[in-house]
This record gives sequence, C-alpha cells and structure tokens, in this order.
Amino acid sequence: MRVLLHTCCGPCASACVPRLKELGYEVTMFYSNSNIDTRDEFEKRAAEAVKLSEADGVNIVFDDYDHESWLRDVAKDYENEPEKGKRCLRCFRFNLERTARYAAKNGFDAFTTSLTVSPHKPSALIFAAGEEKSSDAIKFLPEDFKKKEGFKLSVKRANELGLYRQGYCGCEFSNLEMQRRSSVKNSQNSFN
Ligand code: SF4
Repeated sequence: MRVLLHTCCGPCASACVPRLKELGYEVTMFYSNSNIDTRDEFEKRAAEAVKLSEADGVNIVFDDYDHESWLRDVAKDYENEPEKGKRCLRCFRFNLERTARYAAKNGFDAFTTSLTVSPHKPSALIFAAGEEKSSDAIKFLPEDFKKKEGFKLSVKRANELGLYRQGYCGCEFSNLEMQRRSSVKNSQNSFN
C-alpha cells in the first residue's frame, strides 16, 4: 500500500517513516509547507527533509511554496489566535488539502501527516482536518505518531542525523510568539 506522508519537517518525519515502514507501507514524503514565514526557512527545512529521505531510503516530493495564498486563505482575520487555536486548524486543512490532492492524482492509496508527532499539536484536530480531506479517491490514515514515544524518537534521530530543529512552528505568528517568550525569559534571568 502506497502512503503519502505530509512532512512538516525532517525531525518530525524521522519518527514517522520507520513506523510506516514497520506497518508495511511504501512511503513517499511530501514536503508541503506554505505556512512557513520565509522562503529561506522553507528551504532550510526542506534540505533537512532531504537528508532524512536519503537516510531512510524513501522518495521525497516538493510542493510549491505559496505563502501569499496561505496568508490569504488561512491567517487572514485569525492572526491573533493562539497556537492550537482556529488558525492552526485552518493551517492543517490547508496543508492536508494539498497533500490529499497530490495523493489522489498520483495513485497513492492513502495520505497521512507528520504533524501528529509534536506534543504542541492536538492529534484530534489534525485527524479532523485529515478526515475532512479524505474522499472516495483518497483515504486519510489517522496514525498518531506521538504515541509510543514518537516525539522522543524524533529528537533522538534528529540528533543522530544532525538535523536542524527549528525553534518555532513555522508561520510569522509562531515566530513572534517564540521571540516574545525568549525576551520574557531573558528579562526574568536579568532579575535573578
Ligand atoms: S502555529 Fe503552526 S500550525 Fe499554527 S498556523 Fe502557524 S504554522 Fe500553522
């Protein structure tokens, strides 16, 4: 059975590819991340995904980078949502829609996503988005990769393979949130 793995980044996918292979699937990675704030960051993460595909011996396909569409279709009017909120659900839908479309067009049996590896992303929301994009032409495989210590495995493998692990989810709003958290931490440290 051929499965298309939406790949948010190399480190997360490093816990998914071996699990899918163990389950007997033939895996192709699909790097589709128009949510990422800059092209440089998009390409930096893409290069790490390539390293993983080479290490694990699987194919990788790249979607176009279209952050303008993402800003218009996902973030507009949802800029101030917190992480795990409505903007994130819209973001999951956006990326999984593109994954499902590519999978159906290219004869895959199912699609799934590495997004469930992250402890910061509720699997129930991701599954809801995946089921929504499932159709007669292509089924969503609801694999919860954070289970069975998936996140721990992703950290371990990323270290072993020397993969870059980014400090924020991807969009400019998560980047700002990371900067805000680190400036609060720095100012707390300066009082200690
Ligand atoms: S925080 Fe992450 S999941 Fe949420 S909208 Fe931004 S890129 Fe998408």
